[in-house]
Amino acid sequence: MNVGILGAGQLARMMVLAGTPLGLNFRLFDPAPDACAGALSALTLGSFHDTQALAQFAAACEVLTFDFENVPASTLELLEVTHRIVPNSRALAMTQDRLIEKKSCANLGIPVVPHAPVNSAQELAQAIFEVGLPGILKTRRLGYDGKGQVRIRAAAAAAAALTALHQAPCVYERWMPFKRELSLLTVRASDGTLGFYPLVENIHEQGILSVSIAPAEVSAGLAASARDYAKRVAEHFAYVGVFALEFFEIDGALVLNEMAPRVHNSGHWTIEGARTSQFENHLRALAGLPLGDTQAIGASLMLNWVGTLPSRAAALSVPGLHWHEYGKPPREGRKLGHATLCARDFAELRSALDRLAEQLPDCAPVKLAQFALAEITACHQPAPSSQAQSADCANRSAHQ
Ligand code: ATP
Ligand code: MG
Repeated sequence: MNVGILGAGQLARMMVLAGTPLGLNFRLFDPAPDACAGALSALTLGSFHDTQALAQFAAACEVLTFDFENVPASTLELLEVTHRIVPNSRALAMTQDRLIEKKSCANLGIPVVPHAPVNSAQELAQAIFEVGLPGILKTRRLGYDGKGQVRIRAAAAAAAALTALHQAPCVYERWMPFKRELSLLTVRASDGTLGFYPLVENIHEQGILSVSIAPAEVSAGLAASARDYAKRVAEHFAYVGVFALEFFEIDGALVLNEMAPRVHNSGHWTIEGARTSQFENHLRALAGLPLGDTQAIGASLMLNWVGTLPSRAAALSVPGLHWHEYGKPPREGRKLGHATLCARDFAELRSALDRLAEQLPDCAPVKLAQFALAEITACHQPAPSSQAQSADCANRSAHQ
């Protein structure tokens, strides 16, 4: 089966790596000649706005998917008339606009961050009045990795925020004083079968994912509500493939931040840390194959290499560490690779991480992970005073 992927970045690259043993063939489409998945599969160069080039590309594929969610939904709608696209353009279109995404999810009964639309300075003043301070102004479209966002701490900063975002249509959100960020990866097959990975705890630095810890320690109730929300989204959109829901945990409940209609950075740990990776399950869903087991094998930690790569040899000297390099030239703020550290349980994971910290003494994600894991393992141990323990355990977002 020929699978076409729109976008040839690292997500496409990991799909190719997961799908090749399944007997799938890949063709890639991307505007950038140096797109990193191009090293593994045939790359067609073209603009995502060039419907003719896309139609020609699609003609050689039995099914299409994407690793990049800003392919114009109107283009996908056209292609969808003649080709199978997984997931469908309806799901993609919803997530391309933060305001529509929030409205659609709220309509499905999913709690979303308090927000208001902003198209002018006057509307921003009104939004700040209604939603409150501090807040964050985000462009409705084309944001990723924290780009297209400005925090607003005081009303006086409003004009500068709009200028920084070039007066683009925006949504103003309340800044959420979350305890943790959690994400849920879900896969749905075309016959409606659902698979859920365990919830993952994520730590971001300046809007970019830095560390994921899996599985997150959560109550059964919290896990059940995350799955219930995902089921509503999946069924509403007749979704096929993998998607991620990003949540804030506040007062023991989940509030949706956003949805990603594709495989997701917070699911990279599944390559070695789950019985079936998110990439393989996305491709199984797309190819009409039975879904694989989504269970975690033990405890895993994913560290993102953003801007620079640490020493591969030093990192690989730690048993249980898996290295992934995307083959991209280094650039500030760019995701260049990741490592996943796998262990049987959190105690073992913590000692492996300490060994990694000795090897990579000045590595920011390693330090962040040590801070978070110290808290998780402390929460697992019987505390001398339960009050002292819960005060420690409640403070996961202290670095924010
Ligand atoms: P990505 O595509 O990498 O998920 P994005 O550009 O779509 O990123 P968001 O997920 O909206 O951006 O925000 C990135 C991060 O910024 C969040 O994961 C969170 O850490 C922080 N953040 C965003 N919005 C809020 C908010 N309303 N309150 C608190 N933190 C926020
Ligand atoms: Mg996000």
